Amino acid sequence: MSVLVFADSTEGKFKKSAFEVVSYGKKVAEQLGSNVVVVTIDANSTEELYTYGAEKVVSVKNDSLSIFNAKEYASVLKQVADAEGSSVIVLGSSIDVLHVAPLLAVALDAGYASNVVALPSSTSPFTVKRKAFSNKGFSNTVISTDKKIIGVAKNSYGVHENAVSGTTETFEASIAESGVKSEKIDKVTGQVTIADAEIVVSAGRGLKGPENWGMIEELADVLGAATACSKPVSDLGWRPHGEHVGQTGKPVASNLYIAIGISGAIQHLAGINASKVKVVINTDPEAPFFKAADYGIVGDAFEVVPKLIEKLKAF
Ligand code: FAD
Repeated sequence: MSVLVFADSTEGKFKKSAFEVVSYGKKVAEQLGSNVVVVTIDANSTEELYTYGAEKVVSVKNDSLSIFNAKEYASVLKQVADAEGSSVIVLGSSIDVLHVAPLLAVALDAGYASNVVALPSSTSPFTVKRKAFSNKGFSNTVISTDKKIIGVAKNSYGVHENAVSGTTETFEASIAESGVKSEKIDKVTGQVTIADAEIVVSAGRGLKGPENWGMIEELADVLGAATACSKPVSDLGWRPHGEHVGQTGKPVASNLYIAIGISGAIQHLAGINASKVKVVINTDPEAPFFKAADYGIVGDAFEVVPKLIEKLKAF
C-alpha cells in the first residue's frame, strides 16, 4: 500500500503547489506507516521532488499528454495508482486538477475530499479538515471508502523540505484519446499568476479608469506580485477577466493581499479570506474592507501608491 501524489506541472515545470502536495503526501505516508510515490505527467525533470521527500517518482511521458485532457490524465493516474497499489491519492487544487479529481474518483471508486487544509486528524476513521462556506468555516470530513483522494488547498499546508535520495522510473501508460483537448493556459498580465502568487496587488473601481493601472502594475513589478481586480473592473473591461477575484472570480491564498480602491463587498472578501496579511488603501475610512484588513491606509491611491513605489524602490 502506498500514498500516491500527483505533482502537476505546467510546460514541464513544477510550481510551488507541486512541492506542497509532495510535502503533504510524504507526511500522510508517515502517518499511515507506508511509502510515498510521486507521479508526474510530461514533466521535464523530477530531481527537484526528492527535496520534498519523493522517494520514488513515476514519470509518465507521452506526446499526446502535452496537451491537457482531464479524462486522459485521470486514466493515467488510475493506471499508476493500480500499479502502485495506492489506497490514498493526494492531489493539488489547480483548475486542471479540479477537473481530473472527480473523474479519478469515479474510476477508482474512491471518496474525494477537496479543499483540505491540514493533515488527516485521524487515519481511522480517515478524517480530514476542509475549508467550507467560501473559506469562512471548516468541516471535518470522514472518507470511508477503501480508496481515498485528498485535494489539498493551495498554500494551506506549506512547502516542507525533507530531502531523500529518490529514484525515478518511467511508466508506459496506455492512452485512449478522448476527443476534446484543452490547451493548458495559465495566463495573467505580468510575470506571476494569481493562483501561485505570494503577493497580490489588487485594485478596484476607485482607480477611476483603465488608464490608471500603470501604477498598479509598477507596484506589482517592484514587489514581484501578481495583479488582480474587483468584479466591476473586469466587467467594465478595464482589466482581463482572469484577474477578477472573489466569490464569482478567482480565490486568492497569497501571503500578502494589497487592495487599492476596493470597497470590500462581501462577494470580494469571499475570494481573499485565505490570504494571510491584508492591506487596504482607500479614501473612505468607513469602507467595509478596513474591518477585514490587518493594515489600512486611509488615503488617495493616486498619492499613496506612487509614494509606496518610491519607498520600495529605495529599499
Ligand atoms: P466600489 O464598490 O465602487 O468601491 C470603490 C472603492 O474605492 C470605494 O470604497 C471608494 O471609497 C474607493 N476609492 C474611490 N476613490 C479612491 C481613491 N482615489 N483612492 C483610494 N480609494 C478610492 N465583486 C468582486 O470584487 N468579486 C466578486 O467575485 C463578486 N461577485 C459578486 C457576485 C454577486 C452575485 C454580486 C451581486 C456581486 C458580486 N460582486 C463581486 C460585486 C460586489 O458586490 C461589489 O459591487 C464590488 O466588489 C465592488 O467593487 P469595487 O470595490 O471595485 O467598487
